[in-house]
Amino acid sequence: MLLVTYVLQAVFGYNFRLFLARLMEWESMRVVCPSCGSKAVISSSSKLSEQVTDLYCRCSNVAECGCTFVSTLAFKHTLNPPIKSTADLALSLINRLSKEERAALQQGVS
Ligand SMILES: [Zn+2]
Repeated sequence: MLLVTYVLQAVFGYNFRLFLARLMEWESMRVVCPSCGSKAVISSSSKLSEQVTDLYCRCSNVAECGCTFVSTLAFKHTLNPPIKSTADLALSLINRLSKEERAALQQGVS
C-alpha cells in the first residue's frame, strides 16, 4: 500500500493522502444529504484503495432528517501534469539525444 502511495506521488507529483485530507477540509467541498439536501458532516472515512475512499457522513439537519450515509470519493484523472513530471520527461528525452543533437538543441534554446 505504501509503495503504491510512493508510485502515485512519483507519477502524479502529489501525495494522495494529503490531497484527500485537504479536500475534506476544503470549505467549498460540500457533502450534501441525499435525503433532504442539507449540508452533511464527514464523520469518518475508509480507504478502499489509494484512489478511492468511502466517506461516512451524517446529515446536519438533525431535527428534521438525521440521515447517515456513505459517499465515495475517487481520484479520476489529472488535468495538467505536475511540473516535476514535465521536467523529468524533458530530461529523459534530452538524455536520449546524441551529442550533436544536444548541441543543436542548446543553440535553439536560449
Ligand atoms: Zn438530511
